[in-house]
Amino acid sequence: MANNYTKIILKPGKERSLQRFHPWVFSGAIEAVTKELTDGEIVEVFDSEKKYIATGHYQEEGSITVRVFTFEQAIIDDVFWKNKIQKAINLRKILGLFDNKTINTFRLVHGEGDLMPGLIIDYYDGNAVIQFHSYGMFLLKDIFVNVLRELLGNQLKSIYNKSESTLTKGENNVTENGYLLEGQTSEIIVKEYDNQFIVDIETGQKTGFFIDQRENRKLLEKYCAGKKVLNVFGYTGGFSVSALKGGASLVHSVDSSQKAIFLTNKNIALNFGSTENHVSYATDAFDFLENMDTDYDVIVLDPPAFAKHLHLREKGLKGYRNINNKVIHKIKKGGILFTFSCSQAISNEDFRTMVFTAAAQAKREVKILHQLSQGPDHPINIYHPESEYLKGLVLYID
Ligand code: SAH
Repeated sequence: MANNYTKIILKPGKERSLQRFHPWVFSGAIEAVTKELTDGEIVEVFDSEKKYIATGHYQEEGSITVRVFTFEQAIIDDVFWKNKIQKAINLRKILGLFDNKTINTFRLVHGEGDLMPGLIIDYYDGNAVIQFHSYGMFLLKDIFVNVLRELLGNQLKSIYNKSESTLTKGENNVTENGYLLEGQTSEIIVKEYDNQFIVDIETGQKTGFFIDQRENRKLLEKYCAGKKVLNVFGYTGGFSVSALKGGASLVHSVDSSQKAIFLTNKNIALNFGSTENHVSYATDAFDFLENMDTDYDVIVLDPPAFAKHLHLREKGLKGYRNINNKVIHKIKKGGILFTFSCSQAISNEDFRTMVFTAAAQAKREVKILHQLSQGPDHPINIYHPESEYLKGLVLYID
């Protein structure tokens, strides 16, 4: 196929992971390039015998040099991206997330999970928050604005680019947060099953809300009737609202962010009015766990990623082990623990071994009731195990 894309030739044998459709090319795999590369440009990857394998974005920074978005040679134009976004929308339609009476927030594009590495789009009741994780995707932002407008029609209220923290470009530092399509306000009220949440897309963490925990919050409801519940690393109180909805007699929410606790209180009030069944603590979770009560029936532990990179894996696991050990040690007999890790660098097996060690150290009888992950609107690309980033276990602790 005639095109002008720069070609990257791999070293012999380095094509194997791409042949298994893993969408990353590491810098060490590259033998030669046909032209000088510019950051973010589209490149075609060939094996050492000059056979085409994949097309993706070239990135200067970091060890992943090419992020592949197709394994079929094609002209990468507006129509190509429109088809990709349409496919992502179709999947969310299959999941029943469009025109859903009780849910109006979901992930529309999940990077590698939708074979669009570097692109995240979250949907908050018609407001799209785009987060670019690669410069190549960022360069296409006008295309994505047009495609979203065309495909979502009048359901689309605004588009906000929130990539300041995910893209740090020296000379091309044009990635400031801002609206690509002006909307109403930064605070949006979204629905998740029967619960409502205030999401601040401009100042909130990530794109504003941890949509990936939707199904796990729903599951928590079942375990909370009449229980005393602790929600540690609670952010804006997602799990706390679910616990109260499930009939908890008392819920404690802990987060170190004042802003998150402020929104937790607002979310509790939004769903339940004024209630004495909820107390917030804007404090460090490690201190809280050190001195915590020993009469919690249900505990949710959903820390931020302790291992943001592979080289932090060991340290991260130690951090997870410490806090899990503490709560397993202190939870009431017959208690239920929802414990999570959202570190991409920590595998399912690592996570389970860590929890196993924490339990053994606490000398408690522990059973696994559920094995959890992110919701299906954050699909796991079967060829890219790293896209299964959220791991969770529900434990019965005697
Ligand atoms: N469970 C939440 C998401 C948690 S994200 C939900 O369902 O929405 C992790 C949270 O941990 C963030 O809100 C962050 O502010 C908080 N956090 C990070 N470090 C902390 C610390 N040392 N002590 C308490 N909270 C912390």
